[in-house]
Amino acid sequence: MSAREAATAVAAKLSAAGHTAYFAGGCVRDSQFNLKHAEAIETADFDIATSASLETVRSLFSTSWMVGEAFGVVLVREGHHTVQVARFRKDGPYSDSRRPDSVDPSSEIEDAKRRDFTINGLFEDPATGEIIDHVEGMKDIASRTLRAVGDADARINEDRLRMLRAVRFVARFDLAIDPATRVAIERHAGELTGVSRERIGGELRRVMTHRSRCKAAELMEELGLDAASLTETHSSGTLSRLRALPELASFSCAIAAWWLDRAERESPARAFDDGWERALMLSKAESEAMAATVDLVRSLSDPAQPWGSRRLAARRRLAMHRQFGDAVSVLAAKSKTPAAEIAEDFERFVQLGLCPKPLINGNHLIALGCAPGPLFRSILDTVYDLQLEGELSNEAAAMVKARLLMSAPA
Ligand code: ATP
Ligand code: MG
Repeated sequence: MSAREAATAVAAKLSAAGHTAYFAGGCVRDSQFNLKHAEAIETADFDIATSASLETVRSLFSTSWMVGEAFGVVLVREGHHTVQVARFRKDGPYSDSRRPDSVDPSSEIEDAKRRDFTINGLFEDPATGEIIDHVEGMKDIASRTLRAVGDADARINEDRLRMLRAVRFVARFDLAIDPATRVAIERHAGELTGVSRERIGGELRRVMTHRSRCKAAELMEELGLDAASLTETHSSGTLSRLRALPELASFSCAIAAWWLDRAERESPARAFDDGWERALMLSKAESEAMAATVDLVRSLSDPAQPWGSRRLAARRRLAMHRQFGDAVSVLAAKSKTPAAEIAEDFERFVQLGLCPKPLINGNHLIALGCAPGPLFRSILDTVYDLQLEGELSNEAAAMVKARLLMSAPA
């Protein structure tokens, strides 16, 4: 059973019980883009909007549970899918520009009008395929236009995260921005600071993991959303590294590329710090991966140390980093030749075993009577370098070398 079939079954049960039940929002938008523009967008979530109360939904579906009761959403399990069912609702006032203070049941028209952009305001009757369009969204899908529902300035002002959602949809669906919506975003761009860092980071994660990431970043810079999103000075210009990344680049790889593109605009280029870690609420793993990628790219592009001039052991040690592949992708955008040379070496290292087990470890040295300390570490490093260079290929030879180094340190 596909996600669409699961949602269709849930809607059919609601409608058999006498309630209106439509597909709503993103899933309708995606399928209309597929139909009208022959695209192949895959929708993960099919959301249902219904006239039934949440209690009724709960009683109709035995495997269902409430989430965020204040937002009026029930999750229904159907097949292997979870379908989100929400009652037609209108949002209460936004006193903090983040979330509505309350949500109240309402008509389907009001539910369409509370949605952010016209392309997201469509309903589809799953039984007939009919589109119910209270916001002129079909016209904007046909002309590929992003337009706020209602008064653009008021809609952006009441929830400023919509500015980043706008960027995501424009980049993903290759849209033009309606002039009033653009003016509203430009006017409020600096006020993103009122939005929680979690929500900003969440949006950027979605944007940066999609192949349209470069268009999104350019748009953020063009609309002036970069400064407040990244908590740094506004700048704009070429994003050559971000543009050249493979489509499936990871989030940490993408933000490392973007960070390097931006840092390069400064003279001298900026030193790496934890600004984005805090601005985007990066996890420890994400920020470590980003920092390692930036470090590796900078080291690999250091003109004082061309790749070919480095010792084999040094090259192999760099290639052991988990972010090495990402760093080479980022490097390739700027300098094709060294990147190709590095990629060739990398394949050879993979054949040899990327991280071979050291022939000897600390226990071996202790058995030789060496006490832990700086010499101890340097002997292990030297022996491992020789192993990586193919000079030592078995434990006995490594032990002989270690003994030599103990008596006459290099
Ligand atoms: P995606 O395909 O990336 O999930 P989506 O449009 O489905 O995009 P969701 O965040 O899943 O985005 O939201 C579902 C629907 O809820 C949207 O299509 C839109 O109608 C409405 N919506 C979501 N966030 C907002 C918001 N901040 N303001 C107004 N309406 C919103
Ligand atoms: Mg969605």
